[in-house]
Amino acid sequence: MRKPLIAANWKMYKIPAQAEAYVKAFLPLVASHDRDEVVLCPSDTSLSTVIAAVAGSGIGVGAQNMHQAEEGAFTGETSAPMIAAVGAKYVIIGHSERRQYFCETDETVNQKIHTALKHKLLPILCIGESLEDREAGKTEEVLLRQSSIALKGVVPSDAETMVIAYEPVWAIGTGKTATPELAAQAHFVVRSEVAHLLGRAVADQMRIIYGGSVKPDNASALLNQPGIDGALVGGASLDPLSFSEIVKY
Ligand code: PEP
Repeated sequence: MRKPLIAANWKMYKIPAQAEAYVKAFLPLVASHDRDEVVLCPSDTSLSTVIAAVAGSGIGVGAQNMHQAEEGAFTGETSAPMIAAVGAKYVIIGHSERRQYFCETDETVNQKIHTALKHKLLPILCIGESLEDREAGKTEEVLLRQSSIALKGVVPSDAETMVIAYEPVWAIGTGKTATPELAAQAHFVVRSEVAHLLGRAVADQMRIIYGGSVKPDNASALLNQPGIDGALVGGASLDPLSFSEIVKY
Protein backbone atom coordinates (compact mmCIF):
# COMPACT_ATOMS: atom_id res chain seq x y z
CA MET A 1 0.00 0.00 0.00
CA ARG A 2 1.58 3.24 -1.13
CA LYS A 3 0.47 6.34 0.75
CA PRO A 4 -0.05 9.10 -1.82
CA LEU A 5 2.29 12.08 -1.53
CA ILE A 6 1.17 15.56 -2.54
CA ALA A 7 4.01 18.09 -2.59
CA ALA A 8 3.90 21.83 -3.15
CA ASN A 9 6.79 23.36 -5.07
CA TRP A 10 6.59 27.07 -4.37
CA LYS A 11 9.55 27.80 -6.66
CA MET A 12 11.01 31.30 -6.10
CA TYR A 13 7.87 32.74 -4.52
CA LYS A 14 7.00 33.90 -0.98
CA ILE A 15 9.08 35.68 1.63
CA PRO A 16 8.96 34.17 5.16
CA ALA A 17 6.01 36.31 6.31
CA GLN A 18 3.97 35.16 3.29
CA ALA A 19 5.00 31.56 3.89
CA GLU A 20 3.87 31.79 7.51
CA ALA A 21 0.54 33.34 6.53
CA TYR A 22 0.05 30.55 3.98
CA VAL A 23 0.57 27.83 6.59
CA LYS A 24 -1.83 29.57 8.97
CA ALA A 25 -4.51 29.55 6.28
CA PHE A 26 -3.67 26.06 4.98
CA LEU A 27 -3.62 24.02 8.21
CA PRO A 28 -7.32 24.38 9.07
CA LEU A 29 -8.22 23.44 5.48
CA VAL A 30 -6.48 20.06 5.77
CA ALA A 31 -6.84 19.58 9.53
CA SER A 32 -8.27 16.07 9.62
CA HIS A 33 -6.78 14.86 6.34
CA ASP A 34 -4.44 11.93 6.77
CA ARG A 35 -5.06 9.87 3.63
CA ASP A 36 -2.10 11.55 1.91
CA GLU A 37 1.39 12.65 2.92
CA VAL A 38 1.50 16.41 2.37
CA VAL A 39 4.77 18.28 1.86
CA LEU A 40 5.53 21.98 1.43
CA CYS A 41 8.72 22.97 -0.38
CA PRO A 42 9.41 26.68 0.16
CA SER A 43 12.58 28.52 -0.82
CA ASP A 44 15.52 28.00 1.53
CA THR A 45 14.99 31.35 3.28
CA SER A 46 11.54 30.21 4.44
CA LEU A 47 12.42 26.63 5.44
CA SER A 48 12.80 27.35 9.18
CA THR A 49 9.67 29.51 9.25
CA VAL A 50 7.57 26.83 7.56
CA ILE A 51 9.02 24.03 9.71
CA ALA A 52 8.08 25.97 12.86
CA ALA A 53 4.64 26.84 11.48
CA VAL A 54 3.67 23.23 10.59
CA ALA A 55 4.95 21.74 13.88
CA GLY A 56 2.55 19.10 15.19
CA SER A 57 0.44 19.05 12.02
CA GLY A 58 1.95 16.02 10.29
CA ILE A 59 2.81 18.10 7.24
CA GLY A 60 6.34 17.62 5.92
CA VAL A 61 8.76 20.23 4.65
CA GLY A 62 11.34 19.94 1.90
CA ALA A 63 13.91 21.99 0.03
CA GLN A 64 13.71 22.58 -3.72
CA ASN A 65 17.34 21.80 -4.48
CA MET A 66 20.71 21.08 -2.85
CA HIS A 67 24.33 20.86 -3.91
CA GLN A 68 25.88 17.44 -4.42
CA ALA A 69 28.91 18.21 -2.22
CA GLU A 70 28.57 18.03 1.56
CA GLU A 71 30.45 21.30 1.98
CA GLY A 72 32.95 23.39 0.08
CA ALA A 73 33.72 26.62 -1.75
CA PHE A 74 30.45 26.77 -3.70
CA THR A 75 29.21 30.31 -3.20
CA GLY A 76 25.46 30.63 -3.04
CA GLU A 77 24.75 26.91 -2.70
CA THR A 78 23.04 24.95 0.08
CA SER A 79 24.18 21.50 1.23
CA ALA A 80 22.26 18.43 2.35
CA PRO A 81 23.59 18.72 5.96
CA MET A 82 22.36 22.35 6.05
CA ILE A 83 18.89 21.34 4.88
CA ALA A 84 18.74 18.41 7.30
CA ALA A 85 19.98 20.56 10.19
CA VAL A 86 17.06 22.98 9.96
CA GLY A 87 14.67 20.02 10.11
CA ALA A 88 13.59 19.56 6.50
CA LYS A 89 12.97 15.92 5.59
CA TYR A 90 12.57 16.06 1.81
CA VAL A 91 14.45 17.56 -1.11
CA ILE A 92 13.39 17.96 -4.74
CA ILE A 93 16.21 16.85 -7.02
CA GLY A 94 16.62 17.35 -10.76
CA HIS A 95 13.60 19.57 -11.34
CA SER A 96 13.39 20.41 -15.05
CA GLU A 97 13.89 24.12 -14.28
CA ARG A 98 17.21 23.18 -12.60
CA ARG A 99 18.16 21.06 -15.59
CA GLN A 100 17.12 23.77 -18.06
CA TYR A 101 18.43 26.95 -16.40
CA PHE A 102 21.21 25.72 -14.09
CA CYS A 103 22.93 23.11 -16.23
CA GLU A 104 22.06 20.11 -14.07
CA THR A 105 22.80 16.82 -15.76
CA ASP A 106 21.76 13.23 -15.13
CA GLU A 107 25.19 12.73 -13.53
CA THR A 108 24.91 15.63 -11.05
CA VAL A 109 21.38 14.47 -10.26
CA ASN A 110 22.79 11.03 -9.40
CA GLN A 111 25.43 12.60 -7.12
CA LYS A 112 22.76 14.68 -5.39
CA ILE A 113 20.59 11.60 -4.81
CA HIS A 114 23.50 9.83 -3.09
CA THR A 115 24.32 12.84 -0.90
CA ALA A 116 20.65 13.35 0.04
CA LEU A 117 20.25 9.70 1.04
CA LYS A 118 23.46 9.81 3.06
CA HIS A 119 21.97 12.65 5.08
CA LYS A 120 18.60 10.91 5.48
CA LEU A 121 16.75 13.36 3.28
CA LEU A 122 13.97 11.83 1.19
CA PRO A 123 14.66 12.73 -2.45
CA ILE A 124 11.84 13.63 -4.80
CA LEU A 125 13.58 12.86 -8.08
CA CYS A 126 12.13 14.69 -11.09
CA ILE A 127 12.28 13.21 -14.56
CA GLY A 128 10.36 13.95 -17.73
CA GLU A 129 10.58 14.44 -21.45
CA SER A 130 10.57 17.74 -23.35
CA LEU A 131 8.05 18.50 -26.08
CA GLU A 132 10.79 17.88 -28.63
CA ASP A 133 11.51 14.44 -27.11
CA ARG A 134 7.83 13.52 -27.14
CA GLU A 135 7.29 14.65 -30.71
CA ALA A 136 10.34 12.66 -31.79
CA GLY A 137 8.90 9.53 -30.14
CA LYS A 138 11.68 9.53 -27.54
CA THR A 139 9.63 9.74 -24.34
CA GLU A 140 10.38 6.23 -23.16
CA GLU A 141 14.06 6.48 -24.06
CA VAL A 142 14.40 9.73 -22.07
CA LEU A 143 12.58 8.34 -19.03
CA LEU A 144 14.74 5.21 -19.02
CA ARG A 145 17.94 7.23 -19.38
CA GLN A 146 17.06 9.77 -16.69
CA SER A 147 15.88 7.17 -14.18
CA SER A 148 18.69 4.67 -14.74
CA ILE A 149 21.45 7.29 -14.39
CA ALA A 150 19.79 9.00 -11.41
CA LEU A 151 19.48 5.67 -9.59
CA LYS A 152 22.95 4.38 -10.42
CA GLY A 153 24.57 2.89 -7.31
CA VAL A 154 21.48 3.38 -5.15
CA VAL A 155 20.79 0.28 -3.06
CA PRO A 156 17.26 -1.14 -2.80
CA SER A 157 16.93 -0.38 0.93
CA ASP A 158 17.56 3.33 0.25
CA ALA A 159 15.50 3.45 -2.93
CA GLU A 160 12.34 2.30 -1.13
CA THR A 161 12.11 5.65 0.62
CA MET A 162 12.56 7.68 -2.54
CA VAL A 163 9.85 9.30 -4.61
CA ILE A 164 10.01 9.81 -8.37
CA ALA A 165 8.06 12.69 -9.90
CA TYR A 166 7.18 12.18 -13.55
CA GLU A 167 6.95 15.71 -14.88
CA PRO A 168 6.61 16.10 -18.65
CA VAL A 169 8.48 19.35 -19.26
CA TRP A 170 5.87 20.56 -21.75
CA ALA A 171 3.23 20.42 -19.01
CA ILE A 172 5.08 22.42 -16.34
CA GLY A 173 3.68 25.90 -15.83
CA THR A 174 2.06 25.82 -19.26
CA GLY A 175 -1.51 24.91 -18.35
CA LYS A 176 -1.14 21.82 -20.57
CA THR A 177 -1.66 18.61 -18.64
CA ALA A 178 -0.87 15.09 -19.70
CA THR A 179 -4.08 13.12 -20.08
CA PRO A 180 -4.57 10.74 -17.16
CA GLU A 181 -4.00 7.78 -19.51
CA LEU A 182 -0.80 9.23 -20.95
CA ALA A 183 0.53 10.00 -17.46
CA ALA A 184 -0.38 6.49 -16.25
CA GLN A 185 1.46 4.98 -19.23
CA ALA A 186 4.61 6.98 -18.40
CA HIS A 187 4.34 5.89 -14.75
CA PHE A 188 4.11 2.28 -15.89
CA VAL A 189 7.31 2.71 -17.94
CA VAL A 190 9.14 4.28 -14.98
CA ARG A 191 7.95 1.64 -12.50
CA SER A 192 9.03 -1.13 -14.87
CA GLU A 193 12.47 0.45 -15.10
CA VAL A 194 12.70 0.70 -11.30
CA ALA A 195 11.80 -3.01 -11.12
CA HIS A 196 14.50 -3.78 -13.68
CA LEU A 197 17.11 -1.75 -11.79
CA LEU A 198 16.19 -2.45 -8.17
CA GLY A 199 13.75 -5.34 -8.06
CA ARG A 200 9.98 -5.76 -8.08
CA ALA A 201 9.60 -5.21 -4.33
CA VAL A 202 11.19 -1.75 -4.50
CA ALA A 203 9.15 -0.85 -7.57
CA ASP A 204 5.92 -1.89 -5.85
CA GLN A 205 6.76 0.20 -2.83
CA MET A 206 8.12 3.32 -4.53
CA ARG A 207 5.79 6.26 -4.96
CA ILE A 208 5.76 7.70 -8.46
CA ILE A 209 3.92 11.00 -8.52
CA TYR A 210 2.79 13.22 -11.40
CA GLY A 211 3.62 16.88 -11.95
CA GLY A 212 2.62 19.32 -14.67
CA SER A 213 -0.21 21.86 -14.36
CA VAL A 214 -2.09 19.87 -11.72
CA LYS A 215 -5.09 21.97 -10.63
CA PRO A 216 -8.12 21.40 -8.39
CA ASP A 217 -10.23 20.52 -11.43
CA ASN A 218 -7.92 17.88 -12.93
CA ALA A 219 -6.34 16.41 -9.78
CA SER A 220 -8.95 13.74 -9.22
CA ALA A 221 -8.80 12.31 -12.76
CA LEU A 222 -5.00 12.16 -12.64
CA LEU A 223 -4.57 10.90 -9.10
CA ASN A 224 -7.17 8.17 -9.40
CA GLN A 225 -5.21 6.51 -12.20
CA PRO A 226 -3.56 3.23 -11.18
CA GLY A 227 0.15 3.77 -10.57
CA ILE A 228 -0.11 7.53 -9.96
CA ASP A 229 0.75 7.93 -6.29
CA GLY A 230 0.32 11.65 -5.79
CA ALA A 231 1.37 14.95 -7.30
CA LEU A 232 4.08 17.58 -7.37
CA VAL A 233 2.28 20.89 -7.75
CA GLY A 234 3.82 24.20 -8.76
CA GLY A 235 1.56 27.13 -9.66
CA ALA A 236 -1.62 25.80 -8.07
CA SER A 237 0.17 25.19 -4.76
CA LEU A 238 0.83 28.90 -4.22
CA ASP A 239 -2.68 29.50 -2.98
CA PRO A 240 -3.64 27.60 0.20
CA LEU A 241 -7.25 27.01 -0.83
CA SER A 242 -6.33 25.73 -4.28
CA PHE A 243 -3.62 23.43 -2.86
CA SER A 244 -5.98 22.13 -0.16
CA GLU A 245 -8.51 21.23 -2.86
CA ILE A 246 -5.82 19.27 -4.70
CA VAL A 247 -4.81 17.52 -1.45
CA LYS A 248 -8.42 16.47 -0.96
CA TYR A 249 -8.88 15.36 -4.61
C1 PEP B 1 6.50 21.97 -10.83
O1 PEP B 1 7.03 23.04 -10.61
O2 PEP B 1 7.05 20.92 -10.47
C2 PEP B 1 5.22 21.95 -11.52
C3 PEP B 1 4.67 20.80 -11.81
O3 PEP B 1 4.68 23.18 -11.85
P1 PEP B 1 3.18 23.46 -12.37
O4 PEP B 1 2.26 22.70 -11.46
O5 PEP B 1 3.03 24.93 -12.26
O6 PEP B 1 3.11 22.95 -13.77
